[in-house]
Amino acid sequence: MPALKWGLIGASDIAATRVIAAIRASGGDVVGVVSGSPERAGDFAASHGLARFTTDLDELLGWDIDAVYISSANVWHYDQAMGALGAGKHVLCEKPLALEAAQAEEMVKLAEETGLILAANHHLPGSPLHAKTRELVAAGTIGTVLSAKIAHAVLLPERLRGWRLGQGTPGSGVILDITCHDASVLNPLLGTPVAVTALAVRQAEWNTGGQEDAAMTVIRYENNSQAPVLAQTHDSFTVGYAGTSLEVHGTDGTIQVIDAMTQDTQGQLVLTTGSGVRSVDVDCSEDLYVIGLRAFTAAVDGTGVPTATGRDGLMALKVALAAQESATSGRTVHIN
Ligand code: NDP
Repeated sequence: MPALKWGLIGASDIAATRVIAAIRASGGDVVGVVSGSPERAGDFAASHGLARFTTDLDELLGWDIDAVYISSANVWHYDQAMGALGAGKHVLCEKPLALEAAQAEEMVKLAEETGLILAANHHLPGSPLHAKTRELVAAGTIGTVLSAKIAHAVLLPERLRGWRLGQGTPGSGVILDITCHDASVLNPLLGTPVAVTALAVRQAEWNTGGQEDAAMTVIRYENNSQAPVLAQTHDSFTVGYAGTSLEVHGTDGTIQVIDAMTQDTQGQLVLTTGSGVRSVDVDCSEDLYVIGLRAFTAAVDGTGVPTATGRDGLMALKVALAAQESATSGRTVHIN
């Protein structure tokens, strides 16, 4: 397959720090970028060796490109993805896919109708540690799954304390940012999410935007063949010294993944059963974003599937939106 030619929508931190390198490592060619500001577009193109830049999305969509990577602020994802799909481009869109489930559904439908690939850039389900966890669970290694727990409380880097923290800024807040990632891991592991209860608060003194920066959520999963499963997540922008982890508890054992929820691949998987405690070997040598980009490229080529399809992105969004609604209303929210 010839190199996939990419346009970047958004002169973002995540494109600069992770995704441009991952596109290149997956054999792709990054043609150029569109940004809302001509100065930022030009500086970004110069710093990353991109041949073209513009402030006009239609101009970018008119370039000789096959795919776009959307990493603008969350509020823009839906319009930009619909525009790109409408122009015949494959779309790798950052999470959350949109701000409403109906919008994400429209995106999925348009991609299906046009035969284009739409994927959500959820990097965690592609992690070899998470893939191994799913494999162990599916093989019945820990028996019937009862519950899961994600610790994903981190300190938001100073350079990212902008739109994410604006109270009333569409697409802001810890739930759309982090709980959405947790759901991308839990959904393929536990079945269908059906109900969500959450509490969210504002904690950090530096959070002058006023949006909630810490949340705890409980999700009920159903699975035709077994009793309901409960999952619990702790997500925060305010915790500086905790590690991240995933625990999955079953009738015959527990899987513990240490450093499970970071941008880096490395971590440790520990399996505890009646036979004792053992570390399970997992090859963590490949970058998580490169794994995602390779999977996307294979999907375009017709030889694979994305790490997180558009539908996976939609389901993760549904969980996050339900958590947000629950945190606001004080009630449990049911997912259709
Ligand atoms: P940034 O804040 O870096 O970028 C988002 C947008 O903000 C850019 O598109 C840019 O707009 C604008 N912007 C950036 N820098 C400036 C600046 N100095 N002054 C004014 N505007 C600026 O966001 P992130 O990279 O943190 O996040 C982008 C998306 O990626 C989000 O949807 C987020 O959820 C997702 N994300 C995903 C991660 C993952 O691991 N999958 C990790 C981190 C983020 P313009 O395009 O107009 O220049």
